[in-house]
Amino acid sequence: MGHRVTLIPGDGTGPELTEAARRVLEATGVELEWDVRGAGVDVMEEAGTPLPDETLDSIRRNGVALKGPITTPIGTGFRSVNVALRHELELYACLRPCKTYKGVRTRYEHVDIVVVRENTEDLYAGIEYEAGSDAARDVIRTLNALQPKQIAPSSGLSIKPISPEASERIIRFAFEYARANGRRQVAGVTKANIMKFTDGLFLSVFREVAKDYPEIASREVLVDALCMGLVQRPEEFDVLVLPNLYGDIVSDITAGLVGGLGVAPGANIGEKAAVFEATHGSAPRYKGLNKVNPTAMILSGKLMLDHLGERIAAQRLERAVAAVIAEGDRVTYDFKPTRDDPTAVGTSEYADAIIAKLADGEFG
Ligand code: NAD
Repeated sequence: MGHRVTLIPGDGTGPELTEAARRVLEATGVELEWDVRGAGVDVMEEAGTPLPDETLDSIRRNGVALKGPITTPIGTGFRSVNVALRHELELYACLRPCKTYKGVRTRYEHVDIVVVRENTEDLYAGIEYEAGSDAARDVIRTLNALQPKQIAPSSGLSIKPISPEASERIIRFAFEYARANGRRQVAGVTKANIMKFTDGLFLSVFREVAKDYPEIASREVLVDALCMGLVQRPEEFDVLVLPNLYGDIVSDITAGLVGGLGVAPGANIGEKAAVFEATHGSAPRYKGLNKVNPTAMILSGKLMLDHLGERIAAQRLERAVAAVIAEGDRVTYDFKPTRDDPTAVGTSEYADAIIAKLADGEFG
């Protein structure tokens, strides 16, 4: 039986990127039934919301979605659809594998790192008090009464909640991912030496959970040391599990190590649903030009195949993508030595080259 998947084309360059990914995924031979649903600025006017209920219901029903990027207009009341999706569907884990492929211009070789970021807590929980507000003054007064260190009454505050439950959930996710994917090591990343009651809590949960996975090496790394290690010896790192803020920053470093946004796939995963999407945004200035690189979107589709248990098809797809990139012939402008290279092909023709590789059976 086939897999029913919600397909959200998104806006900006989203529709052309998701179309390329859809065609490539179908060429793997996996039976996929697409339930196409709208979200983003293009549906806003008609639906009255950038995230219609029917789109959310479809993801809840199917449990899996492939999503194109969605623009967040600046200076409107429009809340980020991406943030709303993660919240509504309780997508607590952000998964971002970053791997070097031969033919992508980067400073590094042999990088193969998977960033597992907690998506719900930490300084990104959205619990903030504006400087000078009555609420900020109240909170500061209460805190100042509790301990000798005093917060200046004029301060703004952002609160960093870290719970044992959410920490265990994400750390277990990272170890389970490592086990299922034959990874050798999981590193717990914190600043536990300074923030003992938040990062320290995360680290103590990490130590406990690691005991349940004796076949996987566990490693404790401070986030500042990690940043230096990543730029000096990235090949030493494998799976990283991090609280929300560090995960956000570190996943941009790892994307940079392997060649940038064009090749960085991702997924946001919860207990009941998973949404697969590229790390990059909607690149609106290239909209409709059949120009941008669909690799990140296609590799997000590869992660989706893994999630659906279609491991062999996922592997074939990744090899076909790697082969087209390594040949460097039928690739988009950003994979060429110069950005104005006249031999660059468009989004759709690059997808055709991958489909041709899959069709010639070399990767079966
Ligand atoms: P962006 O990722 O769209 O673009 C950053 C730079 O990378 C631009 O120069 C762009 O042209 C280039 N780029 C992006 N994707 C590319 C690709 N596939 N191939 C070649 N070049 C590519 O980031 P931005 O400009 O900050 O954001 C644009 C919009 O996207 C904003 O509204 C933002 O909120 C939104 N956004 C959405 C998501 C998402 O849907 N998950 C993620 C990030 C940003």
